[in-house]
Amino acid sequence: MRGERLAVGVLGAGGRMGRAVIEAVLAAPDLELAGGVERPGHPACGTALAPGLVVAANAAPVAHRADVLVDFTSPEALGETLRAALDAGCAVVIGTTGLGPEDHGAIDAAARSIAVLQAANTSLGVTLLAALVEMAAARLPDWDIELVELHHGQKRDAPSGTALMLGEAAARGRGAGLAALRLPPHDGMTGPRRPGGIGMAALRGGTAAGDHEVLLLGPGERLRLGHLAEDRRIFAVGALAAARWLAGKPAGRYRMADVLGLADLRG
Ligand code: NAD
Repeated sequence: MRGERLAVGVLGAGGRMGRAVIEAVLAAPDLELAGGVERPGHPACGTALAPGLVVAANAAPVAHRADVLVDFTSPEALGETLRAALDAGCAVVIGTTGLGPEDHGAIDAAARSIAVLQAANTSLGVTLLAALVEMAAARLPDWDIELVELHHGQKRDAPSGTALMLGEAAARGRGAGLAALRLPPHDGMTGPRRPGGIGMAALRGGTAAGDHEVLLLGPGERLRLGHLAEDRRIFAVGALAAARWLAGKPAGRYRMADVLGLADLRG
C-alpha cells in the first residue's frame, strides 16, 4: 500500500457507478480517494471530489497515486485504463460490461504483469448466485434453462453482462461454453425447443438497477434462482470488497468468486 489507507482511483467518475463508488470510498474509514477520471470534455472534469482533488481527464496521474483502480466506464476506455495501471504497477478492478474477445485478450495480457479482477457484476449476491446456478445446472443435467433479465431503459448492451455471466455459469455446469448451448431468441415459428439448451430474454424499461432470474425447467417442476438489485450501491460495495481483496495480490486474472472464496466450492 502506498499509504496507511488503501488508495482507490475511480474511472468514470461522472457516471452513475463512478459516483456511487466515490461516495462509498469517501464513507469508508479504511479507504482514501486517489482521484477520479472522466473522458476529456465531460462536464465533471475539473469539478471538486474532495479537498485538493478534482476530476482529471487522464488516468495516468491517478494510477500513480492509487493502490487499485476501479473502472466503470465503457469498453472504449479499457485500453487507457490498462495502460495507466500497467505503467503505475497498480491493481485494477474492471466492472465495465459489453467487453468483446479483444478486450478480454487485453485483460489477459495485462494480468501477466498486474493483478486484474474483471466482473460483469460485482454484487456479492450475484457472485453467489452464479455459483448456485452452476451447481444446479450440473446436478439437473436434463432440465431446460431460461434466463430472464430486466434493466432500466438507458442500458446500452443486451443481454446484460450479468445475464451472459450467469449463462456461462450454467453452461459450465453442463461442461460446455455458453456459445454451444445458447438458443436463438424464441420468436416466430420456433418449432420444438432444443432440450437442455439455454434461452435468454432481455427486458428494458423504467429505472430497475438489474433483475436476473434463472429458471431450471424440469418435468412437472421448476427451480427459480434469482437476484434483484434494489440500488446500484451494491455494485460499489462489491467492487470495493474486490479492491481490498485484490490489493497486494500477485499478477494474475481474478474473479469475484475468488473474493468470496467460491472458486473451489462448485464440485
Ligand atoms: P454511465 O454512462 O453513467 O457512466 C460511465 C462513465 O464513464 C461516463 O460518465 C463516461 O463519460 C465515462 N467514461 C467513458 N470513457 C471514459 C474514459 N476514457 N475515461 C474516463 N471515463 C470515461 O454508466 P454506468 O451506469 O455508470 O455504467 C458504467 C459501466 O459499468 C457500464 O458498462 C455498465 O454496464 C457497467 N456496470 C457494471 C456493473 C457491475 O456490477 N460490474 C454494475 C453496473 C454497471
